[in-house]
Formats: sequence, structure tokens, C-alpha cells
Amino acid sequence: MRLTTVGTGAAAPSAHRVCAGHLVEAREVRLLMDCGSGVVHRMATLRLDWAGITHVALTHFDADHVSDLTTLLVAFRYGQLPPRSAPCTVVGPPGTRAFLERLAAALWDRLLEPGYPLEVRELAAGERLELADGVTLEAWKVPHTDESVGYAVTADDRRLVYTGDTGYDEGVAAWAAECDLLLTECSLPPAMAIPSHLTPAQAGRLARLAGARRLVLTHFYPPVERTDVRAAVAVEYGGPVTLAGDGWTLDLNTSRA
Ligand SMILES: [Zn+2]
Repeated sequence: MRLTTVGTGAAAPSAHRVCAGHLVEAREVRLLMDCGSGVVHRMATLRLDWAGITHVALTHFDADHVSDLTTLLVAFRYGQLPPRSAPCTVVGPPGTRAFLERLAAALWDRLLEPGYPLEVRELAAGERLELADGVTLEAWKVPHTDESVGYAVTADDRRLVYTGDTGYDEGVAAWAAECDLLLTECSLPPAMAIPSHLTPAQAGRLARLAGARRLVLTHFYPPVERTDVRAAVAVEYGGPVTLAGDGWTLDLNTSRA
């Protein structure tokens, strides 16, 4: 299993981070988790195989996580020759189909019938979906918006947990228990803390409670980048920590912390 953090920013425009997008490659699965503004062009910049994506999983419907979904689905049809014929599955919490219908009405009336098989799978919190032989995706409720979920991807004896946007919740840590890699948001410094996002210390505490083998931080707003994120995390968590940037990548099959 390989993780590439494609977009590690949030809603604030940044010179070096686009909005949320994280690519997980496992066996024949190419899973993009969230597809915020800038993610599609960033994949091209990074020379990632955007055309080979098999699944897109949305954690919630905030703009910084979904704005480029239409861009990607259009690119599959019009951004390459020949156009895509392989199926693509969009996974998301209940309400995803209605959300895609709204996107179709606003942006591209062929969005749900784009000329290649497009499947929409709504995955309720606690449900599990087999993406391919030996690769599973599980959703878990996280405290952010009403529909927000996090995802766990399991393949080849590795488990990667992505919180999406979340507030501090020890139930999330219990769900993430013993994961090989915990990919959490790290939105705000303590002076700006709110219940629907994490500070660096809260991200570190979740990693410690989960017993995560590695912590990778994403979803940075500029103010938190002006603080000592690494020191704040280290107070809570003693394992390996990465402050991910756009294009950071790790093969979990060859590196176990
Ligand atoms: Zn966000």
C-alpha cells in the first residue's frame, strides 16, 4: 500500500498546498480520498496516474474536499484520448448521490452518465466495502459536519486510517487502534481551536491513544504552520511524525515504523 498526499492544504489559498486530496494505491486499487480544489492539476504536476484512479472516496461535502470532483470526472471523459472506458466508483456518506445530482445540475449534466461506468456507493458509518480482492474501505463517523466520515483502508496486512476533517473524539482513536498509519487533519493552532477541527497536540493525542505506528499530518491552515507543530505533537506522541506536503509519499509495505 502506498500513500501519496496530493493536497495538504485546507480552504485558505496557499502558495504550496492545494486543497484536500490523498491517493492510496493498493493492489489494483487507485483510491483518491477527497478531491478539493487544485488536486487534479496537482496530480498532473506530480506525474501521478490520475487517469488510472479506480475509486474516489469523499469524507464530506465541504468545498475544500469536493471542488475538483467534477474536474476529475470531466478529465476522464474529455482530458485524454481515447476517453475512459473503465468503471469508476465514487464512495461517500449517505447523501452522496443527491450531492452528485446537484453537481450535475450545476456543472455537467452528464456527470452521472459520463460515457464510462460510474457507480455511486453510499457508505454509512460502520459499513465496510470491498474495493477489490483483498482491499477494503471502512467508514467511521467523525465530528465535523453532519455527514462527515473518516476512512480506513486495509490491504496486505496494512491499515491506513484517514480522519478527514474532524474534531477531537476519542472514539476516533479507538477506531484507529493499532493502525500502521494515521493520517489526520491538523488545521489550527491552540489559540484558534474549535470543536470541529484538530490542533497539533490533539492530533498527537489521538495517535497516542490509537497506538498508531506512524502519524502523518495534513490539512494545514496557514496560522498553524507558523507554530511549532512538531514540538506540540511530540508532547503527546512519541512515534514517527510527518508534516506532509503536496507530493509526499510512503510505501507502507516496505516501511514499518
Ligand atoms: Zn477541510
